[in-house]
Amino acid sequence: MTKEWLVETHEDPLRAMRALLEAVWDRVPLDGMVLALRPTEGGAVRTVLAEERSRLSEFDPLAPVMESNSAREIMAKMASAPSATLGATVRPCELRSLGVLCQQEGIPSQRLFRIGVDCMATFPEDEYERRAQSAGEAERMTKESLQFARQGGIAAYRYRNACQICPSPSAEETDLALGLIGLPVQEYFLLMAKSQELSDRLGLETLSIGPAPESSLAQRRHAIEALKARRDRKGDRVLSSLPPGLPEDVAELLDHLRSCQPCRDCLDACPTCMEVLELAAANTKPLLEAAEHWVVLCSGCGMCDQACPRGYPLNAVIRRLARSLLPESLAA
Ligand code: SF4
Ligand code: SF4
Ligand code: SF4
Repeated sequence: MTKEWLVETHEDPLRAMRALLEAVWDRVPLDGMVLALRPTEGGAVRTVLAEERSRLSEFDPLAPVMESNSAREIMAKMASAPSATLGATVRPCELRSLGVLCQQEGIPSQRLFRIGVDCMATFPEDEYERRAQSAGEAERMTKESLQFARQGGIAAYRYRNACQICPSPSAEETDLALGLIGLPVQEYFLLMAKSQELSDRLGLETLSIGPAPESSLAQRRHAIEALKARRDRKGDRVLSSLPPGLPEDVAELLDHLRSCQPCRDCLDACPTCMEVLELAAANTKPLLEAAEHWVVLCSGCGMCDQACPRGYPLNAVIRRLARSLLPESLAA
């Protein structure tokens, strides 16, 4: 038996994903799902909690725009519905943040069913709006993004800075993963369960055209490795050309954040800095340790950069600091 399957798309991957998620919703079963929706009547893509399965018709996880990292919002939804089993279909950077928060808050894995989707990258919001307007139809942006899935996206310099250096664009360590990178998604994509038991329980075989051949798994693996290598090189260039005067250690970063005025929008946009903020407010001792923890577990989502009115490169600064804190083998 296998836990990796091929899902046929009949030249409409988005439709195939929606049908797949409908079946998963029933089979888990879920009381709701947090996902990126693009309203059929028009308007921006937003991450919301869908309580009706019918809302999956608006599901668009591949729109190349990211308004926020939904990890903290998902935790808030979990807290407001303590007896519910929720699903979350999210990008790899959100998955990483979600993993950190679930561990910190002791959320039992059976209460949150995580579905990760490979991510080709996202544009800054204004760039996305401009492109969507000139394309005349927002779904065209999703289709364009999918068109380049096979080669792991395009090396577009207009993508968000965080995406250009994103260390892990593939969905990993999740209940279910939708694998797109390196694959001819107009024909099929990969559906991967975290275990054989889960694959059997959800009857994934019946949602697929058969087990994924080793050649498709290898194709995805190779494309991801090539994409990561490209982004690591870009990351090295970005980090080595950061302007002088930026924080060289975590204590300096805390000093910067304390004195930076007039806002704290970067921290408000970050899903995983709550502990640092609370300790800073209480002026207690383990602040430095908590901040180091935050830096090392940063998901690289870049929402802090996106929120900053001054264009402060917090994501890159944190990545440089994480490299100095982590053993070489783990630093991306
Ligand atoms: S940071 Fe990575 S996972 Fe997140 S949107 Fe960009 S490419 Fe996708
Ligand atoms: S510090 Fe920035 S890049 Fe890191 S998790 Fe927070 S918002 Fe994302
Ligand atoms: S968002 Fe920018 S200006 Fe505001 S505190 Fe953060 S780094 Fe400073």
